[in-house]
Amino acid sequence: MTSPIIRARFKAAGFAIIISVILMLGLHGLLSAAARGIQLRPPYDGTYRLNTFFDHHFPDYGNDNGMTIYTGESVPDCSPYCYQGHSGYDWSMYTGTQILAAADGVVVGRAALGTGYGWRVILDHGNGYQTLYGHLSALNVVLNQHVATGDVIGLSGSTGRSTGPHLHFGIYYGPVPANSEPDEDHATDPFGWRGQHPDPLVNYPAQGQGHTASCLWRSLDTDPISCFDTIAEDAGRSSSIVGTWNESTVGNGYHAYYRDNISSNLDIWATWLVTDIVPGTNKVYAFIPSQNATTHRATYWIYTTSSTRWQSCTIEQAPYNDEWVSLGTYQLPNYGYMFLYANTQEVTNTTYIAADAIKFRSYPQFLPLILQDDIDCGFDCL
Ligand SMILES: [Zn+2]
Repeated sequence: MTSPIIRARFKAAGFAIIISVILMLGLHGLLSAAARGIQLRPPYDGTYRLNTFFDHHFPDYGNDNGMTIYTGESVPDCSPYCYQGHSGYDWSMYTGTQILAAADGVVVGRAALGTGYGWRVILDHGNGYQTLYGHLSALNVVLNQHVATGDVIGLSGSTGRSTGPHLHFGIYYGPVPANSEPDEDHATDPFGWRGQHPDPLVNYPAQGQGHTASCLWRSLDTDPISCFDTIAEDAGRSSSIVGTWNESTVGNGYHAYYRDNISSNLDIWATWLVTDIVPGTNKVYAFIPSQNATTHRATYWIYTTSSTRWQSCTIEQAPYNDEWVSLGTYQLPNYGYMFLYANTQEVTNTTYIAADAIKFRSYPQFLPLILQDDIDCGFDCL
């Protein structure tokens, strides 16, 4: 906590610092991308809930009793990251949302199929990488067209094998057929691999033919997804839920907990604990779903290395609709540990509090520590 005067001074100096940070992070991303040959921007503007992760455990749509996401976390029954064998990422979004080219490229596939990925666009980015955008409702490009990063290539929809409007985003290290469903042999994960054991993707489709995924996001500070992120879902191994909560499928990872807020009982809470974050400066976010999140006082407690070990940030959940909301920047040990109490101290219990995914975004050690005071949690940060 700092005095208002100091905070004002930080804000005055903030602009130049933010520019520096963006430049440094951009450079970092550029250097990483140079080594890997590609860097991707998110295929949309804004933020959307991520319904389904990439399955490193045989991304062939088969039911093999195991799904493993990029953090190394495995869930045998696939919940909440349904579904098994998924070879890309699904973001839930209303039909008609603009879909953007993730990188410069050439349109090598454009097909309005009723099967599989439905109406899709496939871009070739050189260096062996192709991206596939599936289930679209409109195709805004033609074959062999050159597109630049961020160009609108189509509109989202629910065509093909789909149960609701969403974008399926796939990236392949290798060619994808233009007019039929891919065999997924070349599918890779743009989030890379963060697990402590070897990437199971190397076993796909057969020993010796696979590869370890590299994180391919360009990772600007302003991007909703980044190679510096560690996401902890609310119903995975990394979280626990205590007391009575309701469950819903509206959250990130196709799952969230919620309940009516309470003003007296402290025995109902949610926790997240991830053991593999980068120690040091981390920006912490909570995902606030579009439904079941109407409280005006959701207080998140974050374990830090500062002299006040537990620091808190209180936000309104009500204004946000499927968004990652910053809870501020903190100095963290090599693990992230957070609490959210259902006790909101609100006078009435007519609002709902949601416990959904949280994430830690690490910053390189050389960033100015002044960033720590640039908290924008929106209500009252303590
Ligand atoms: Zn999908």
